[in-house]
Amino acid sequence: MTSQPTAPGDSPAAPHRIVIAGAGFGGLETVHRLAGAPVSITIVDLRNHHLFQPLLYQVATASLATSEIAWPVRHLLRDRPEVTTLLATVTGVDTNTRRVLLDDGGSLPYDTLILATGARHAYFGHDEWEPFAPGLKTLEDATTIRRRILLAFELAERETDPQKRNALLTFVVIGGGPTGVELAGTIAELAKVTMPPDFRNIDTRKARVVLIEAGPRILSGFTEDLSAYAQRSLEQIGVEIVLGKAVSECTADGVVYGGEKLDSKTIIWAAGVRASPAAEWLGVPADRAGRLIVSPDLTVPGHPEIFAIGDTVAINAPDGSPVPGIAPAAKQQGRHVAGIIKARLKGDTSVAPFVYKHSGSLAQIGKKRAVIDFGWIKLRGALAWWIWGIAHIYFLIGLRNRLAVAMNWLWIHTRDQRGARLITQGRASTDPVKR
Ligand SMILES: Cc1cc2nc3c(=O)[nH]c(=O)nc-3n(C[C@H](O)[C@H](O)[C@H](O)COP(=O)(O)OP(=O)(O)OC[C@H]3O[C@@H](n4cnc5c(N)ncnc54)[C@H](O)[C@@H]3O)c2cc1C
Repeated sequence: MTSQPTAPGDSPAAPHRIVIAGAGFGGLETVHRLAGAPVSITIVDLRNHHLFQPLLYQVATASLATSEIAWPVRHLLRDRPEVTTLLATVTGVDTNTRRVLLDDGGSLPYDTLILATGARHAYFGHDEWEPFAPGLKTLEDATTIRRRILLAFELAERETDPQKRNALLTFVVIGGGPTGVELAGTIAELAKVTMPPDFRNIDTRKARVVLIEAGPRILSGFTEDLSAYAQRSLEQIGVEIVLGKAVSECTADGVVYGGEKLDSKTIIWAAGVRASPAAEWLGVPADRAGRLIVSPDLTVPGHPEIFAIGDTVAINAPDGSPVPGIAPAAKQQGRHVAGIIKARLKGDTSVAPFVYKHSGSLAQIGKKRAVIDFGWIKLRGALAWWIWGIAHIYFLIGLRNRLAVAMNWLWIHTRDQRGARLITQGRASTDPVKR
């Protein structure tokens, strides 16, 4: 690999060089926590923006605009002269020369490397389903799903064949975790509350929203009573819930589950994740979901100079349960790694194990309904919804976005209007609704 002094940090006079791959929750938190340390940091991401994934489903369902939940990384770090932001895709790591390899053939030297490249959705060995059942992870995914949902209503308005019209007005969400529940609830509200006055030939209230979960209950990460409440709430707003049946086929015309075929032109995948290939880049062990198995201090086994954090790693909490793939866990890990690096720079090389503290689980179900499990207290209904909303606004970046999101929610909840109902990117050849 190249060793010419062409990349940031190649200068011999450079201080301790840190490369961070991924400007998500874990990567950005590490940068923030390293403020003031005598280091030079290069943060690399294949996208130019940091994304607030917890509200991605609201972009997919036309409630929020893309710019309200994403921020240019370069702008977020503009006041940190020691931080260089690069738009590039990491493709590997050369641990011998200590360089991060990039897709354009370039490379970046590091003294300490932090891999925070997250995860993507997985299709359990059925990648061929992806064109028919897009998952939700990026802004592109969200606008693709939004386009498909809105196009389905548009085409149904012009469709005269009742069978085809029914397929256009059947929305299937696969996976009953928080994302599946939030998507199904919001699509149902879109169809049953927001859309009806806008259409003349169809009654959008007759649209079917079917949530399919292979396990015995939705929101399996929550207690049984909260999960039962979520199920009742979804059913009240018209979502049909199928439990204990795995999807065995996804095509342009619908899904098959438990041997039964359901015609649908809009299928959304909210089941299963696969870690980024960080473990493969280093040739170290990973779990079944591809998550790199890190040492207790979040270093990569055999490489004390490389840390891995967030959704791309597997590590257990003090009670032996796996640390969940959620934003607070990634941020806590970023904080921990920054602490270790700062201590090492002061000559302290003691090994500090990462200790995860679970602050709670939240999921929105629909208008004024949510469930919250803080461990010491469990909440549901309108109060939980208010706390959910305030917490999400608080964690957004920047006053403008907080105000914009609050204003949008006010509009949705008082006037049942969703301002981001835009079909963008034209009609793609992979859109099942095209046929
Ligand atoms: C739809 C959805 C809803 C969610 N809802 C919640 C929620 O309500 N609450 C919650 O706590 N958590 C939620 N999560 C999970 C949470 O978003 C993740 O746990 C969190 O983002 C993990 O942080 P991370 O830093 O590990 O990865 P990410 O935040 O995903 O960041 C990874 C970054 O790495 C970049 N990257 C990936 N590969 C490369 C590469 N090869 N080269 C360069 N850059 C690369 C990506 O572009 C991305 O910016 C949700 C996730 C999704 C998808």
